[in-house]
Amino acid sequence: MSISKWFVFVLIVGCLLCDGQRLFAQQSPPDDEIIKLAEDVYLFRHHFHQSIFITTPKGVIVTDPISSDAAIWLKAKIKTLSDQPVRYVIYSHHHDDHITGGSVFADQARFVSHAAAREKILQAADPHTPVPDLTFTDRMGIDLGGKHIELIYTGKNHTDNSLVVLLPQNKLLFAVDFIPVETVAYRTMQSDYPDDWIESLKQVEQLDFETLVPGHGKIGKKEHVRQFRNYLEALRAAVEEQVRKGATVEEAKKAVRLPKYEQWQRYADWFPENVEGMYRYLSQQRKDNR
Ligand SMILES: [Zn+2]
Repeated sequence: MSISKWFVFVLIVGCLLCDGQRLFAQQSPPDDEIIKLAEDVYLFRHHFHQSIFITTPKGVIVTDPISSDAAIWLKAKIKTLSDQPVRYVIYSHHHDDHITGGSVFADQARFVSHAAAREKILQAADPHTPVPDLTFTDRMGIDLGGKHIELIYTGKNHTDNSLVVLLPQNKLLFAVDFIPVETVAYRTMQSDYPDDWIESLKQVEQLDFETLVPGHGKIGKKEHVRQFRNYLEALRAAVEEQVRKGATVEEAKKAVRLPKYEQWQRYADWFPENVEGMYRYLSQQRKDNR
């Protein structure tokens, strides 16, 4: 991306964030903050993690509680915005760093996840993580107080149980850990399914929304889904060439460069790890196919 395009992007995202009314902002950068994204729709950020919540006259819908401390803070802040209890807590996927702290809402909420996430949460048996009692495999709608939200499974990507939360009334999509905005993938992509991930992103591209809220980092637009898919495709193609040539993982990490994405966040430190993860995945695939 050229410097001028980058500048325009920063301006656009900057404006998106100023549009959102900053509530409870302390000295910057605060550890926790809530930003209004749309009428009754809020971003909740805790350090490098974020989730969304929706207030309605019949109750509040929360997504990832993030941690016990974060959830206690969030619950107190929600009380200042709504006199309604939290009715639903939606887990984006089974990873601890997003779903710990749910017990803070266990007195009144139902817990929702993809069916495969429930299985993993049952195995982990963390007392701070209530086990979901409402699960689905493909798609599930929740209607509460005049709001309608859709939970959609778009296939394997970062895990085999990641859901996206679609707010059709706001044309907003919340997706965690598999659509970073102008940021490379997380480290060596340990729990990921690269080929399914690319297909999953194509499914997300079919959904009707404009604003993309990821579980980390800056807020984006629908266009960022295609951009990130193109990144994964380019990474896959470049690493596959190295695997075919018989390069070692260290040789591949030295050889593979994607200058188009150098401006993206974490390129300097995570990109070589992305190469390593993709190398492992493709080498394993070759062995399996023999
Ligand atoms: Zn994760």
